[in-house]
Amino acid sequence: MVDQVLESRTGKRTQNGKFYDSAQRHKVEGADACLIRVYQKLRPGIWVFNGIFRLVDSWPETVGSRTVYKFKLELTEEVIVEESQSLHDREMPQTRMIPSDVKRVVYQRDGGQCVICGADDNLHFDHELPYSKGGTSLVAENIRILCARHNLSKGAKIQ
Ligand SMILES: [Zn+2]
Repeated sequence: MVDQVLESRTGKRTQNGKFYDSAQRHKVEGADACLIRVYQKLRPGIWVFNGIFRLVDSWPETVGSRTVYKFKLELTEEVIVEESQSLHDREMPQTRMIPSDVKRVVYQRDGGQCVICGADDNLHFDHELPYSKGGTSLVAENIRILCARHNLSKGAKIQ
């Protein structure tokens, strides 16, 4: 019902304001784009990590009678292994994205938990055959659920 704003009444930047400023610093001033972790809500209480995106643009838009802020994100080739360490692969970003319907099928099949240890938090969708080796994102057979720990140990082995 209310407009989104960049500042609170006390003049403090809102979350929208901070994202807006960051995108503008990149677009206008050429600063490095901020890296944003994106999580997707699969169902209530279940969030999955969707990848790391660069925040490259922001603008106000009128939706109905409200002003809202929109943000443009570009998928990076960064794969988080640890906070301080990242891997790169040569695959095109689009093919790394796992469609939502594939995620739902995999989530149901794997019972919403890591297929190795049964953990049900910090879950990642993992390509069984890595996309860098031609593995597809488009069929559930090549996707499985791993917890962050097993996702990480797998990444170490491939390297
Ligand atoms: Zn696990």
